[in-house]
Amino acid sequence: MGNQHTGRFAPSPTGPLHAGSLVAALASWLDVRACNQSGTGRWLVRIEDLDTQRCMSGAASTILRQLQSLGLLPDETPVFQSQRTSLYRDALQRLVDTGRVYPCGCSRKEIEAARAGLGLPRQRHAELVYPGTCQNGLHGKAAVAWRFRTIAQGYGPGDQDEPPVQWSDRRLGPQQQQVSSAVGDFVVQRADGPYAYQLAVVVDDAAPQISHVVRGEDLTDNTARQILLQRALGHSQPRYLHTPLVRDAHGEKLSKQNGAQPLDTTQPLQTLNAAAAVLGLQARTGSVADALSAWVAEWRRLYNP
Ligand code: GLU
Repeated sequence: MGNQHTGRFAPSPTGPLHAGSLVAALASWLDVRACNQSGTGRWLVRIEDLDTQRCMSGAASTILRQLQSLGLLPDETPVFQSQRTSLYRDALQRLVDTGRVYPCGCSRKEIEAARAGLGLPRQRHAELVYPGTCQNGLHGKAAVAWRFRTIAQGYGPGDQDEPPVQWSDRRLGPQQQQVSSAVGDFVVQRADGPYAYQLAVVVDDAAPQISHVVRGEDLTDNTARQILLQRALGHSQPRYLHTPLVRDAHGEKLSKQNGAQPLDTTQPLQTLNAAAAVLGLQARTGSVADALSAWVAEWRRLYNP
């Protein structure tokens, strides 16, 4: 299984599939079917239902039904993150044992105050770059989260020489991010909440040996954090391809929150053609199976997976 091409689609069941999420589903499916060991690749589906507050009841089975009616069939039984928390607990424990995470007792207000004290700009509506307050201890506060130490041993806090994480996106080209300054020590688990997306995704991509991650471009800037976690846990790094986003009339990413319509799966070819167009693939006529195999050939020429 070592070199087998394994891809995945990892929807959050916050609602049915929409035109935007189908783009990632189709691209990741094509990427597996187009790999040079065709017939041996695996396309897996993982339902990311850890954040129960955001999940919509019934959405997971709707998504699976929608994929099926579009001809996108997973090669194995889909897995649900909500049933895998013991794996995340083990991974967190390993990070605790190796000193890569530390308990943090800061509230959002305290993080804002600490940032202001350091003369750092206010950040509105954004994940706050953590200024490292609890890096060397809780100072009597109760822990509210575990944070990942982005600056590994050997690089002092604020050390300008800490090398950025570099990786190459198969569509977007070379990427880099210095996680300590762009994001700071990030949360991998909150005391009162689920394991963080970053930790769960790294554990779940490693377990079935995902070799190729294909997903929406809005996740591009999460990749460096995930690479740091892979390194800390001793996992190999998959290859990455981030797909174009579907935007609404105001240029916003299409999402369930801003009113994306559920897909019309009664017209599968039309629906697939719309997703294919976003990926720069030609419009097809005929049967769904013919269209999919033509796009597989086109994808192979474009991305040579
Ligand atoms: N569950 C994430 C989402 O729906 C995708 C995670 C991933 O592909 O890494 O946005």
